[in-house]
Amino acid sequence: MPRAGFKSVTIKEETYRELEEAYAREREVLAREGVPSLTAYVTRIVARHLQEQQKTRLKHFNMFENVIRIQDAKLKRLVDVDFRNGEMFCGYCHTTECLHTGFAWGLYRNHPPAPAKE
Ligand SMILES: [Zn+2]
Repeated sequence: MPRAGFKSVTIKEETYRELEEAYAREREVLAREGVPSLTAYVTRIVARHLQEQQKTRLKHFNMFENVIRIQDAKLKRLVDVDFRNGEMFCGYCHTTECLHTGFAWGLYRNHPPAPAKE
C-alpha cells in the first residue's frame, strides 16, 4: 500500500528498470533541479507530458460579439464560451470554471473582442 497522500500505478518490471536506470544516470543533475527521488522524477515526467497535452489540446477558433469559440481536440468538437456580466460561461461544461473558460480568459486578455453593436 502506498503511504498516505500517494496512489500507486502498476507498471512492467522492464519499464520500472528503465526508469531507475534513467534516474540513476541523471541523479546529480536532477538533485540540483530539486528532483530528489525516483518518485519525484516520474512525477515530473508525467506532469510535463500532461502540460504539453493541454497546450496542444485547445485552439482558438473564432470570436464574435460575446462568444469565444474554441476547438477542443480531445472532445473533437467546438466549444462556445459566453462572455457575460464579466464572467466566462462554458456552454459545454455549464460552468464558469473549466479548462475552456480558463483558455477563453487568456484569449480575452490578449485580444478583447469589440463590444456588441447596439
Ligand atoms: Zn468547459
